[in-house]
Amino acid sequence: MADSRVDGLADGRVDVVVVGAGLSGLVCARQLRRQGLAVQVLEARESAGGRMRGHTSGLGLRLDLGGQWVGATHQRLLALLEEFGLRRFPTHYDGEGVFHWNGAARRAGVEHDFGSSLLFFRPGELGLPADQVAATLELQRRFQELVARVPPRAPWTAPDAEELDRLSIAGWLERQGAGELARYPFGWLTRIGGSGGFEPHESSLLHLAWTQAVAPQQETPEAWLVEGGAAQLAERLAAELGEALRLRAPVRAIEQGDGGVRVSHGASGVVRAAAVVVAIPPPMRLGIQFDPCLPPAWLGLLQRSPMGSMVKVLALYPRPFWRERGLNGLGIGNLPTLELTVDSSPPGGPGILAGFIAGERAVRWQRLGEAERRSAVLQDLVCWWGAEAAEPADLVLHNWNAEGWSGGAFTSFLTPGAWTTYGAIAQEPHGRVVWAGTEAASRWPGYFEGAIEAGLAAADRVRGLLGDAGAGESLAGL
Ligand SMILES: Cc1cc2nc3c(=O)[nH]c(=O)nc-3n(C[C@H](O)[C@H](O)[C@H](O)COP(=O)(O)OP(=O)(O)OC[C@H]3O[C@@H](n4cnc5c(N)ncnc54)[C@H](O)[C@@H]3O)c2cc1C
Repeated sequence: MADSRVDGLADGRVDVVVVGAGLSGLVCARQLRRQGLAVQVLEARESAGGRMRGHTSGLGLRLDLGGQWVGATHQRLLALLEEFGLRRFPTHYDGEGVFHWNGAARRAGVEHDFGSSLLFFRPGELGLPADQVAATLELQRRFQELVARVPPRAPWTAPDAEELDRLSIAGWLERQGAGELARYPFGWLTRIGGSGGFEPHESSLLHLAWTQAVAPQQETPEAWLVEGGAAQLAERLAAELGEALRLRAPVRAIEQGDGGVRVSHGASGVVRAAAVVVAIPPPMRLGIQFDPCLPPAWLGLLQRSPMGSMVKVLALYPRPFWRERGLNGLGIGNLPTLELTVDSSPPGGPGILAGFIAGERAVRWQRLGEAERRSAVLQDLVCWWGAEAAEPADLVLHNWNAEGWSGGAFTSFLTPGAWTTYGAIAQEPHGRVVWAGTEAASRWPGYFEGAIEAGLAAADRVRGLLGDAGAGESLAGL
């Protein structure tokens, strides 16, 4: 394994520059260094991790402001956690959750087979009109048939791909004659489920079907939590890199010539390399000046890949008081601000409810003053979990749309028509520039697991680009 010395060749050049020290860039750099290559990671922020971000609460507890859950089938992530000795505990789903629908709270048990649930709940226990529940489940079944026809690696080749890509999710629901209840799970999926942060009118039916083909809710992406927070993984990977990781180094320009690449960062920094891995969210790539310029189709794709609108909410209580009433903290429903809470309390620790404000709710919420923001969140917490929820020991509200180096969360989505117009070029390298970042993954894009897959795949591609040239041999020009 490479040590933490400054990577670099005799004349100060490196083999590979990795842009972005999120999980994807960190894993990519680690892999390349293990193969004996000299790597320089350039990160814009003051710390590594990107959307994998730790925070110490007022109670001294380590929390995740970004991603926190580990999926049941996230094998690469599970392996990395094990390698670093980071322990996990199961997400607490025992007992009943609360589905809030049009002003009424309905208790129901959790259905672990997502396909036959109404947003994780056992439909028969919700006390909703049977005909509306049946129509909702039937529409979900039709959608799942469509998902099964979308090739995960090439959604633009699905049967009727063009039609599905020009039709917004909202438009499809309209065509199906879906009632309010039947529509809701689709809006919830676009705002909160996996990809997250957008509304049903903002993306196409093909895009939503693709998200479920590559990252199915059915596989329980929220199965585990990490003791002390998932962000420790990024912290450990960054520590391993030592001075091969340079912080406060926003990359502004990438110039390529026959002999290599010149990467400019900050006010006047320059690193020369044989190849570059760009591991940042797709719309952020538009902030880098490429020379030669990215091909027009690439620019078209990036301009149609906005980030979602997302606020993470963490409410801390002295104990998980809801459990005393047989409740498991799973709250879903059409409340004005919050659309999800999940019990994220560590074993034997305080009570933690994690939740999200997403899509248009997030856009409206961020226009409010600080006191109104807090009170909007507390009102919804009380609707689900009662008066005790009104006084958390700590309430953390983190707005990812205010993060200039992320631009939003959880991930980017494609606007209608973009998959079929530009999808085929999405993974093509640009000369010596290779793409990583969770959005470049073929499985679990938008998740940690996708970030790792894309980081490792980019390392392989770079290895291919460099061929058998040893460290620095391919660095003639520039
Ligand atoms: C609120 C929230 C909840 C989430 N929940 C989960 C979850 O529970 N489970 C899960 O699996 N996933 C979850 N995710 C998604 C997960 O966090 C991301 O998929 C993953 O962390 C992305 O890693 P990445 O390396 O691809 O990108 P990023 O983490 O975005 O890393 C990119 C890095 O590049 C840097 N950068 C950007 N531009 C430049 C530049 N020009 N020069 C240099 N550096 C630059 C950024 O500062 C950043 O550090 C969540 C995300 C958020 C925000």
